[in-house]
Amino acid sequence: MPILVGAAGLGVALAMLSLTAVVQPGAAGAAPGAGVQTARATSAPAARAPSRPAVVERVVIGQSRRGRDLIAYRLGDPEASRSAVVVAAMHGDERKPALILRTLRDGRPIEGLDLWVVPNANPDGVARKARRNARGVDLNRNYPRRWKRSKRGSTWSGPSAGSEPETKAMMRFLRRVDPDQVVSFHQPLNGIDTSGTGNRPLARRLAKQLALPRREFSCGSGCHGTLSQWFNHRLDGQLVTVELGRRPSRAYLTKKAPHGLLKALGGRRV
Ligand SMILES: [Zn+2]
Repeated sequence: MPILVGAAGLGVALAMLSLTAVVQPGAAGAAPGAGVQTARATSAPAARAPSRPAVVERVVIGQSRRGRDLIAYRLGDPEASRSAVVVAAMHGDERKPALILRTLRDGRPIEGLDLWVVPNANPDGVARKARRNARGVDLNRNYPRRWKRSKRGSTWSGPSAGSEPETKAMMRFLRRVDPDQVVSFHQPLNGIDTSGTGNRPLARRLAKQLALPRREFSCGSGCHGTLSQWFNHRLDGQLVTVELGRRPSRAYLTKKAPHGLLKALGGRRV
C-alpha cells in the first residue's frame, strides 16, 4: 500500500506544483495513462521502501500525448543545499542513458544532494523506438526559446512553441524544482556540449567524471527551441547536455557513469 502523507513534510517545491502525484516510494509504477493520485510522500527515511531505498518520492509530472505518465523520482536528501535534475530519453531512440538514471534510482540511498531523475522524458517515442513524440514533434526543438517553425521531419519543432504536453510538463517541473544543476542525456555524439554553457564548472566536472570530451554541438539543423536554450535563459541553474556514444557498455552505464554523475553533481551514496 502506498504511504500517503500530508503535503506538509517534504517536497515543498512540488507541493506547490499542484502536481498530481504520487507517492509510493519504491512502487513499481502506475500503468501508462493510469491517471493520477493526489498524495505526497514524506522524506523521512522510514518512508523509503526497502526495494528502492534511494527513492524518497515519486511524482507524475504530466502525461505524454498518448496519455503515458511522465515520472520523476526524487532521490537523496530533500534538505541538501545542492539540487539537480537529470533527464534521459527526450529523444525516444536514445534510450541507453536511462540505465544510468535507473541504476541510481534502484541503488543505495544518496546523500549530500537533492536529486531528481526523469528516466523517460518521451514515453511515446520510447515505446516506438522513435526520436519524436507521438505527434511527430522533436521535443528538443519545441521549447519557447529561439523557437522557430521548421519542416515536418526528424527535427520538426511542432506547430507552435511549447505546444507539446511533454514540453509543458517538463517546463512546469523544472520551474517548480528550480534546480541548481540539470543534466540532459542524449546519444550518440559522444561528448559534453559546451555550446551555450561554455566551459562552466559543471561541464568540466561532467567531462572528467564521465570520461567524455568537451565539444560544441550544432544540433544538426541549428539549435533552436532546445531544452538547454530555454532552461539556461529562463532559470538560474545550469543545464549541460551530455551526449553518450552509440553503444556505451553496460559496465559504463551501470557503474562508471552513475558513480561519476553523482560525483560531478556533488552527491554520494550512503
Ligand atoms: Zn538527442
